[in-house]
Amino acid sequence: MSTLLEAHGLVRRYHQRQGILGRPRELRAVDGLSLTLERGRTLGLVGESGCGKSTTGRLLLGLEAPDAGEVRFAGAPMPRPGSGDWRRLRARMQMVFQDPLGALDRRLPVGRQITEPLEIHGRGNATARLAELLDAVGLRAELAARYPHELSGGQRQRVVLARALATGPELLVCDEPISALDVSIQAQVMNLLVELQARLGLTMLFISHDLRAVRQVSHRIAVMYLGRIVEEGEPDALLSAPAHPYAQALVSAIPHPGRQGARILLKGDPPDPSARPSGCAFHPRCAQAMPRCAVESPVLRPRADGRLMACHLEQAPANESGSHEN
Ligand code: SF4
Repeated sequence: MSTLLEAHGLVRRYHQRQGILGRPRELRAVDGLSLTLERGRTLGLVGESGCGKSTTGRLLLGLEAPDAGEVRFAGAPMPRPGSGDWRRLRARMQMVFQDPLGALDRRLPVGRQITEPLEIHGRGNATARLAELLDAVGLRAELAARYPHELSGGQRQRVVLARALATGPELLVCDEPISALDVSIQAQVMNLLVELQARLGLTMLFISHDLRAVRQVSHRIAVMYLGRIVEEGEPDALLSAPAHPYAQALVSAIPHPGRQGARILLKGDPPDPSARPSGCAFHPRCAQAMPRCAVESPVLRPRADGRLMACHLEQAPANESGSHEN
């Protein structure tokens, strides 16, 4: 296994004003995030809405520049967004968005849209490639002449996938790719993603709030909370015995063979990226918090079992551990 992409210490801030006279508030969408994407593997990124998953996807592809930190693709620093070097690199990394209708141009037949990236990057015979791509995503050739509104939601997402694959990318970032689809179609698109990833040897970042979907496609899962990864590990290990208190709460909400215990209901409000708590950002909602959690931010560290975790429980002296009640 080798590394295709590495991100170190990424920070992305936005400034929001509340009302015309309101003071701008800083919102830290991503706050010191590091991750690695191994070639030919899928990393699932999961967390509540607003935790910074989509911003992370955009930072990794260079669609936005980080305020701090670095992304390296194939060993080299990510070029500045919009630069000539970045445009050339775009053929090697593509994104699949949540809303296929929004991602497509309603005025163009879908076949044209699938081959558009080939024209942009000056690649190969578009007609032959179109037939290959339609076949790869399980669409009939005659659908190429149709317009997006003439297709079903599942067919549209297959078109978006075909377009993303047109230039033969190494990296695919899929941002909530099934959440706009009917439940009956979701499984088909998930199966297609798994099959394409394996057949083409793609490196994939699969972003979702749905842990069940992430489990289905991922070789590793990273759990994100308020702009940072708090636990990362192999799906079976992480889902059968999550170690981080936030991951424990997320996992307790889904059935998993071999895991015992009741659902953990988180106390307090969902996270607000403009009001990040001090220390461990999860401490106001954590039933296992200790005094140091309110002042000291835990670092993401490797554990003996191969997982990564950011939590003081890993290093806590026995008499410092907080209550384990929920
Ligand atoms: Fe809970 Fe403290 Fe661990 Fe944060 S560092 S998850 S507050 S125990």
